[in-house]
Amino acid sequence: MMATRDLVIIGGGSAGMAAAISAYDEGVKDIVILERSPYLGGILNQCIHNGFGLQYFKEELTGPEFLTRFVVEVQKRGIEVKLNANVTAISKDKTVTYVSPEGAGVIEAKSIVLATGCYERSAGSIGIPGERPSGVITAGQAQLYLNEYGYLVGKKVFILGSGDIGLIMARRMTLEGAQVLGVAELMPYSNGLNRNIQQCLIDFGIPLYLSHTVTKVIGKGKLEAIEISQVDGSLKPIPGTEKRFDVDTLLLSVGLVPNNDLLDKIGVPISPTRGSKVNEHMETELDGVFSCGNVLHVHDLVDYVVEEGHQAGKSAAAYLQGRLPRHEDVLYTQAGNGVGYVVPACIDLHNADGKVAIKFRVRRPAKEVYVEYRIGETLIKRMYKPAIIPSEMEIVSLDKASLQGEGPLTVSLVAKEVK
Ligand SMILES: Cc1cc2nc3c(=O)[nH]c(=O)nc-3n(C[C@H](O)[C@H](O)[C@H](O)COP(=O)(O)OP(=O)(O)OC[C@H]3O[C@@H](n4cnc5c(N)ncnc54)[C@H](O)[C@@H]3O)c2cc1C
Repeated sequence: MMATRDLVIIGGGSAGMAAAISAYDEGVKDIVILERSPYLGGILNQCIHNGFGLQYFKEELTGPEFLTRFVVEVQKRGIEVKLNANVTAISKDKTVTYVSPEGAGVIEAKSIVLATGCYERSAGSIGIPGERPSGVITAGQAQLYLNEYGYLVGKKVFILGSGDIGLIMARRMTLEGAQVLGVAELMPYSNGLNRNIQQCLIDFGIPLYLSHTVTKVIGKGKLEAIEISQVDGSLKPIPGTEKRFDVDTLLLSVGLVPNNDLLDKIGVPISPTRGSKVNEHMETELDGVFSCGNVLHVHDLVDYVVEEGHQAGKSAAAYLQGRLPRHEDVLYTQAGNGVGYVVPACIDLHNADGKVAIKFRVRRPAKEVYVEYRIGETLIKRMYKPAIIPSEMEIVSLDKASLQGEGPLTVSLVAKEVK
């Protein structure tokens, strides 16, 4: 007989654990978390540096310290967890198929929370010219080898991309005795948080080459050197600007992508984040299927991932208890000038009480701008920002009652008038 569950949570990282805790506290007791790795906690297991939890716990914790607090809460509630259980498919009628050391399993779920995190873009996805030797590895994979298995992947390192994981690995590898010769960033600005530029590069004297990219990978079998070049305004390498670095390792920190394969495979509509389209309850376009954390959109801070997980868990409980009817006439959102994406994709205004959190990222850094929220031509809210950058996710809370009129709700950047 097929197993049935009120709530199946796929992925036991920060988002999945937070969702489980909140759903349980709202009265849903028949929950299982399916996690493909041998432990709970997700990516934070390998993030042994500090800086986690400043918003959520008002304390500075390491990744493992942060996740342990959630593991304890999951265990206290006796929520069932299946480890080494890799979910291979979800169907539109919410049947979940997984494989584990005990064999294949199938669960008929009444509700699902997808919390499968994100994956790193690799050399294949950015097409670096040159040879394909060993020694080219993503920064997150190098972090896993070093922090969980104790292997230093190289001694002379160059990093392509200034995302946070690359910056953190520049510091980490230096502390472990490797020589980090530099970081090249295609854009004229860094994609990492300012605190990481200061604490991971400037404090260690590691040069950051803005508007540069790797134009050659050199080495047969094993990496011997790389060549970087400056790029022009259209991001094309400028001949004559080549610089060679003799290195045994090239770390790639060139972006994270939501790991939304399970919903992609069954055609659930996706948003510009490459996660699913959700409403303000984190519900996808499939009834009773919710998405949260990095599988929905890549977050800058785990603190916000956890808040989203709690929201998805509460919504799943409301759905199971018949308190979350879906209405067709919703207010859609869209990214306007200078904005890359907006989450949620739509807002249900049938219950116009309370507030809705609008999250977005800008496409490129801007100074002295207003962020405008408009429904059609009507200005709902305008906020001044002295500076705004793509590496930081923006969150603003709007009163649902203020969201009246013909949609969509557009979030845009508008330059401050010069008087
Ligand atoms: C390499 C890397 C390093 C990072 N470093 C930092 C950092 O230093 N600071 C910071 O604030 N943020 C960092 N982040 C961002 C971090 O991912 C988030 O802050 C947060 O931890 C994400 O939580 P999550 O639960 O959404 O995803 P995750 O923590 O990634 O959890 C997803 C879980 O889902 C499981 N899973 C995936 N697919 C399946 C499946 N099919 N079946 C079953 N289980 C599945 C995974 O094994 C994993 O445990 C990093 C991200 C990456 C990728």
